[in-house]
Amino acid sequence: MSRETIVLGAGIVGVSVAWHLLKRGRKVRLIDRRAPGLETSYGNAGIIQREAVEPYAFPHDLKTLLRVIPNNSIDIRYRPMGMVSAASPLLSYYVNSFPGRYKKIVPAYASIISLSTQEHEPMIAASGAEALIQKKGWLELYRTESELAERWEKALENKRLYGVESRLLNRQQLDEVQPGLSSDICGAVHWLNSWTVESPGDLVQSYAKAFEQAGGEFIEAELQGLVQQGEGWRVKTSKGDHDAAEVVVALGPWSQQMLAPLNYNFPLFVKRGYHMHYAQPNVKARLNYWLMDAEKGYLLEPMKNGIRLTTGAELADLNAPPSYGQLEKAEKQGRKLFPFGERVEAEPWKGARPCLPDMKPVIGPAPKHKGLWFAFGHGHQGFTLGPATGRLLGEMMDGETTAIDMKPFRAERF
Ligand SMILES: Cc1cc2nc3c(=O)[nH]c(=O)nc-3n(C[C@H](O)[C@H](O)[C@H](O)COP(=O)(O)OP(=O)(O)OC[C@H]3O[C@@H](n4cnc5c(N)ncnc54)[C@H](O)[C@@H]3O)c2cc1C
Repeated sequence: MSRETIVLGAGIVGVSVAWHLLKRGRKVRLIDRRAPGLETSYGNAGIIQREAVEPYAFPHDLKTLLRVIPNNSIDIRYRPMGMVSAASPLLSYYVNSFPGRYKKIVPAYASIISLSTQEHEPMIAASGAEALIQKKGWLELYRTESELAERWEKALENKRLYGVESRLLNRQQLDEVQPGLSSDICGAVHWLNSWTVESPGDLVQSYAKAFEQAGGEFIEAELQGLVQQGEGWRVKTSKGDHDAAEVVVALGPWSQQMLAPLNYNFPLFVKRGYHMHYAQPNVKARLNYWLMDAEKGYLLEPMKNGIRLTTGAELADLNAPPSYGQLEKAEKQGRKLFPFGERVEAEPWKGARPCLPDMKPVIGPAPKHKGLWFAFGHGHQGFTLGPATGRLLGEMMDGETTAIDMKPFRAERF
């Protein structure tokens, strides 16, 4: 059945949904105010995280809370106004992070993560983007033996339960694969079946190009509203109105803004993040792997535009002005970890992870409106989960049996 469909938002999620719906024989238009993949899906760390079967929980232990409260740590920062405006979703996120509730979230999250690399694969092949991808995994570095041992125990459990492949590297083994690291590092977990992308924005653009080459239409326009019209929908944009039988909202951190006039009130909040690129170091050692300085909370990535440093979470309003203290502190720490060169950009990039309080995205039909579908709130792993979301939403929209149980992802839970 061919039904005209409009997808709103051309980040990794919207592009992947559009790609899948087109492949299913629909006539698809994809609308974004910018070219595809220039917002959150551009600036991330570029890891297709097959290992991320456990979503980020809110810290509960006193030691972590005491470290975070002074608001000068590298991994988490907060802006008081941001905490106030997101107080309710943050509180339920905190509650959902208690072990009893969290234990129920993990299997659902793991079920969708298990489709991640598998669903990127055909999109990479169709778009000829193989050159952007590395399949040698990434390194999670540790500074204390006890933390490394604890993480390794978890890695073994996740191998057994969810097929996450990894190996433990002591310092000597680590030096063999990644020379030049600070002597403070004692070892690493090497995640083996996760993939890395040397330019996440380019990958999204390749997927979008493949969509257009296969007959999909991309329209660059500001979205101004969404109105139900008879049996279908009218999408109002800065470049005129577009009608379709069905509409998918995949606007990442901006999704709730589009849905508020239709009386939806999703507890969507953001964890912002920053990045900066640096020149290669003037020493022999090259950065061979994506590295996470796990006990400090930032990543270094050998990207196309230089060594990219990405920060942890900043709890702030989506549109609050940037604050670079977290990045500056991570940069200082990063230079001690691996001596990279000078900054290559004038200003850091800023983006926002679209988050929901139970750590899972919303994927599925709108509860109050026929022909309206949702795909947003992918938090820390949207780059990983875009293609899996596209596949699953396509199956739901065509009334097929889905590859995994979609109940945990449905909008009705809010
Ligand atoms: C620092 C950082 C590191 C990260 N690292 C990783 C990682 O390694 N792996 C991973 O899986 N995930 C990672 N993430 C998370 C990931 O980047 C996001 O979850 C993902 O990009 C969200 O994709 P999206 O398509 O939902 O949103 P977006 O990419 O933000 O797309 C939404 C689109 O909607 C458009 N839009 C919004 N409003 C309008 C409007 N009114 N009119 C027209 N267009 C509009 C925007 O222009 C945008 O293109 C990271 C995030 C950050 C911030």
